[in-house]
Amino acid sequence: MSLDTPIAELVEFISAAQFAYHTDAQLGELSYDNKIHQHQKLNGPVYMSKKKRKFYDNEMRKLQKQRKYLEKQPMDHDNEIVHLPNPMVGFGVPNQPSPVLFQRRIPDEAEGRPYFYFENVALAPKGVWHTMSRFLYYIDPEFVDSKFFCAAARKRGYIHNLPIENRSQLLPTPPSTIHEALPHTKQYWPSWDKRMQLNCILTCIGSAKLTDRIKKAVEKSGDEPLPGVKKYVIQQCKKWNLIWVGKNKVAPLEPHEMEMLMGFPPNHTRGGGISRTEQYTVLGNAFQVDTVAYHLSVLKRMFPDGISVLSLFSGIGGAEVALHRLGIPLRNVVSVEISETCRKILQSWWDETNQQGKLIHFHDIRMVTAHELEKCMSTFGGFDLIIGGSPCNNLAGGNRSTRNGLEGSKSCLFFEYYRIIELVRSMMRHR
Ligand code: SAH
Repeated sequence: MSLDTPIAELVEFISAAQFAYHTDAQLGELSYDNKIHQHQKLNGPVYMSKKKRKFYDNEMRKLQKQRKYLEKQPMDHDNEIVHLPNPMVGFGVPNQPSPVLFQRRIPDEAEGRPYFYFENVALAPKGVWHTMSRFLYYIDPEFVDSKFFCAAARKRGYIHNLPIENRSQLLPTPPSTIHEALPHTKQYWPSWDKRMQLNCILTCIGSAKLTDRIKKAVEKSGDEPLPGVKKYVIQQCKKWNLIWVGKNKVAPLEPHEMEMLMGFPPNHTRGGGISRTEQYTVLGNAFQVDTVAYHLSVLKRMFPDGISVLSLFSGIGGAEVALHRLGIPLRNVVSVEISETCRKILQSWWDETNQQGKLIHFHDIRMVTAHELEKCMSTFGGFDLIIGGSPCNNLAGGNRSTRNGLEGSKSCLFFEYYRIIELVRSMMRHR
């Protein structure tokens, strides 16, 4: 770093050091001092102006304080378990009794603009939510099941610094039961299948072999299957979200049915060379739009003229669709998404909905530098919202082989979310 090092790069350096420290604590890699030493060895000593030095010293003091504080935290394993509420209504959902008294605590350094909103699967391995919350200013996650918003369950945790008063729902509210959402299934639905709502929409679907096996088993048993058959069929239907589409005939959801359940416009993921398998993957990873929109609805009164968004891990644009459906103009969206398929889907939605703002794509979050972000921010005056859910591949219950928590090759990208959020917030504080 030289005398001319832009402030953003300094912040990135500090942030990288801080990141290194945190990952050290987490993963037992290089120590903090080693990391700085290494950095100086590679980049030469850090020369800077008095002003920059003061800023740098201040940041370092803060980091050291934070480090000492974290070191003093007792390793109490009970503390690491974040208890999931039952029912999973977060800080409240429409038409349900308010949750028992909770205390919402947002530390001063996490208050205000840029607002941030982070999402991931609620049922992550032990300690994961505790760690994510520790990195995101110790804010308590809000755990919400989307079954309170639509006809399918989706248990997710959200860490954010948004106000929680006077939230409003997207209108029209979506159907809340299977039969309302998928009326064509009603005539074939056997009375012994008591499901009113679907399970979580996943990235893969039940096989043709399975649906054939179920058809044969039910057909063989005549009008009233034996309890053992019923049990097997219901178990498989629940596991794979199968619906009744003909006499004794079950099938997986169609992509357009998933789009509807997840709150996306019809054909959102269809066409443009996108395969059905890809549609299932991207829909299974997406936000449930009505749920997220409920939380984001408070932004409407704060940003009546529109919003500048840094959308991390954008996927098929759950955040963008939610903001648009809330009637919040998207002035600028910087989207970071590695999948070309997802970028195409977001871009065609953007074009089709005649967005007046600017959409900028970045690919790999690991390559996004402070310099690039600062360039974007100076063009449109900082970000109002940083939003995203980092990949849950190594966290989700469905993944038995590589469910290795935040150390997993995909889920460790959470630390990139953290890096970017710290970077942007620091840069905006020092603009
Ligand atoms: N909230 C999104 C889905 C998030 S799933 C939605 O509503 O659709 C996580 C996303 O992170 C996936 O789309 C995946 O392609 C993307 N991703 C994975 N690795 C990435 C990386 N290194 N940089 C940017 N995006 C990445």
